[in-house]
Amino acid sequence: MIPFLDLKGLNAPHKDELMDAVSRVIDSGWYILGDNVASFERAFSDYCGVRNTIGTGNGLDALTLIFRAYKELGIFHEGDEILVPANTYIASILAITENRLTAVLVEPDMGTYNIDCDLLEASISERTKGILTVHLYGLVSYGDKMRSIADQYGLKIIEDSAQAAGAEYEGRRAGSLGDAGGISFFPSKNLGALGDAGAVTTDDDELAETVRALRNYGSHTKYRNQYAGINSRLDELQAAVLKVKLQYLDSENERRREIAARYLNGIDNANLILPPKGTARSHVWHLFVVRVEERDTFAAYLRDKGVGTMVHYPVPPHKQPAYASWNDRHYPITEKIHKTVISLPLNPSLTDDDAQTVIDVCNAYK
Ligand SMILES: *Cc1c(COP(=O)(O)O)cnc(C)c1O
Repeated sequence: MIPFLDLKGLNAPHKDELMDAVSRVIDSGWYILGDNVASFERAFSDYCGVRNTIGTGNGLDALTLIFRAYKELGIFHEGDEILVPANTYIASILAITENRLTAVLVEPDMGTYNIDCDLLEASISERTKGILTVHLYGLVSYGDKMRSIADQYGLKIIEDSAQAAGAEYEGRRAGSLGDAGGISFFPSKNLGALGDAGAVTTDDDELAETVRALRNYGSHTKYRNQYAGINSRLDELQAAVLKVKLQYLDSENERRREIAARYLNGIDNANLILPPKGTARSHVWHLFVVRVEERDTFAAYLRDKGVGTMVHYPVPPHKQPAYASWNDRHYPITEKIHKTVISLPLNPSLTDDDAQTVIDVCNAYK
């Protein structure tokens, strides 16, 4: 059986180093906001090429706190509109609506699955204040067109880089392209912790200081509360784990690219639509997503042949009970994607033999 994802297998090569790191945290007697968080934040800033990283409890909070901070700074106001792709994971949208901002759903491009920049301008109103761009499946969603529209209309670009740790656009990393980025270190992400973790990345020092306070009860100074903040800190244990794993992110992403190249060259079946290649470094292959008309049949066939799959994602946000008032809306491209996508196993612990098996099994599907 080739599982869709084997988290234990992902961490096994680093186990000794992780055990040492965890053991040092235990022995330090300091578990919240200490040296490990500070040094991981510095290391991740250097890696992404930004001035500030602020560790948070998870990726959703990272995104939510960016919007919250822009509100505290008087840049966004309740009811302001944020453009966001309709086909994202629901966390992107929750970060907007949690702040009583209005999520304006924009259809994606069928070729990249990322927000269609040709539709951005038509979605802009007087209340539009930002674009939440999502680097879905690990492919960067950013470029001159998005930047020039943002500049022309005075919009902030916020990146949901949860799936794109290490991806690059013209030599700059995801998380350093927009005005701020929220990233997740959920265990299955390209840079995964051993539990929940996330971070905000930004060159904007004022925004960074506001997020830094908001994640810690709204406090810059202990027992002085500037804002009615939340508790969403990256903890010392996860920071120590992430510092170890950050060293391997580039080589693990390289391995993902190798497997993706094998799939792209090897899978040849008219029933399957393969993902976009991206440019050399713009894709970090968090997921290798193909489209197929009879998805359930294909999934059952693969399961029968010993290949695990998952669907990212089966139901779009606008069809979720959580957003009942949107349920009557129709986003045909988004809905088509949700109906037909299926993710094949792709992760650094997959062997060449596993990859060949996946290719052979896909090619034999009728
Ligand atoms: C994983 C993910 C998030 C949320 O991250 P958590 O750490 O699980 O809160 C947000 N957006 C996208 C696109 C994601 O894939």
